[in-house]
Amino acid sequence: MSSSSLQDDAGLQSFAQNYGDDPLAARESDLYRGEFVTGFVEKWDELIDWDARAESEGRFFIDVLRAHGKESVLDVATGTGFHSVRLTEAGFDVLSVDGSPAMLAKAFENGRKRGLILKTVQADWRELNRSIHGKYDAIICLGNSFTHLHDELDRRKALAEFYAALRHDGVLILDQRNYDEMLDHGFTSKHKYYYCGDQVTAEPEYIDDGLARFNYAFPDGSEYTLNMFPLRKNYVRRLMREAGFERVRTYGDFQETYESEPDFFIHVAEKSVTPNCHLRDRRSSLSGTRQRHLEKSVAIAGDALVPARLDSTPQCAADESVMRNGH
Ligand code: SAM
Repeated sequence: MSSSSLQDDAGLQSFAQNYGDDPLAARESDLYRGEFVTGFVEKWDELIDWDARAESEGRFFIDVLRAHGKESVLDVATGTGFHSVRLTEAGFDVLSVDGSPAMLAKAFENGRKRGLILKTVQADWRELNRSIHGKYDAIICLGNSFTHLHDELDRRKALAEFYAALRHDGVLILDQRNYDEMLDHGFTSKHKYYYCGDQVTAEPEYIDDGLARFNYAFPDGSEYTLNMFPLRKNYVRRLMREAGFERVRTYGDFQETYESEPDFFIHVAEKSVTPNCHLRDRRSSLSGTRQRHLEKSVAIAGDALVPARLDSTPQCAADESVMRNGH
């Protein structure tokens, strides 16, 4: 069976993934439609473990959104609804979008269990503005989702659609695995962020410059795979700038206490940079713990470590600076 059969196998009731005769050749942006089959969607929350994930990322996204003064949020990679639910509970006005109807159905169910009615829209990022009307303060594309686009033109198209759905001073928050480390030095994981379920393994089966194929194994013996594109950090930053975002800050993981490379990067891309970018407000809105973490932050410009400007000046940190929590 060809990989297009996998793409066609979309919808709420598909159970088996099928990559055809050569799974390593399946490298299309539409693959996700047939990868997030019902069985995998039902397992997804075991993989991410909501409580452990909430603890590991803390208030990071809430703090960043508040620091930028944002209220309306488009969650374009809703998945099973983890961030839609958390941000709704925190008082943000969230619209939950995903290209997978099975994921959206699960997100809705998860919202109901918590007494929330999520507003959901099924849409592919590459045609987002056909389904989404109005402009949003912020877009989040989290959980290593952008990696599902295999073609550069699709990445550019999606970023252009995100850009168009934002208000003039909107912010896009998009995260990714640290593929640079995997491509250059091999795979390691602290298994601490994002995929927090302690009974589940999420590991690469295969990686080259155009494919990262991961295997997800669950305690009941079930296994699923995802074929993803291994995005390099600076490549994503460049694409964001070329899509029109004036400034991109990139954070590594969520906490200061790591000794090696972060597992994940989080890019915060601003559509327009204003002289007062709320960083002063950000400090005052942070919880004590996060503020202490940020006070120990370092900013990385290129490869050089320099003291974080976040704490030393009320103005925005330098354009193109890379922020991450460090020692
Ligand atoms: N954000 C969730 C999380 O962190 O648990 C879900 C992450 S899951 C890895 C990626 C999600 O992105 C899936 O729900 C998938 O359906 C969605 N997705 C992938 N490519 C997409 C596209 N081109 N348009 C819309 N949604 C897409």
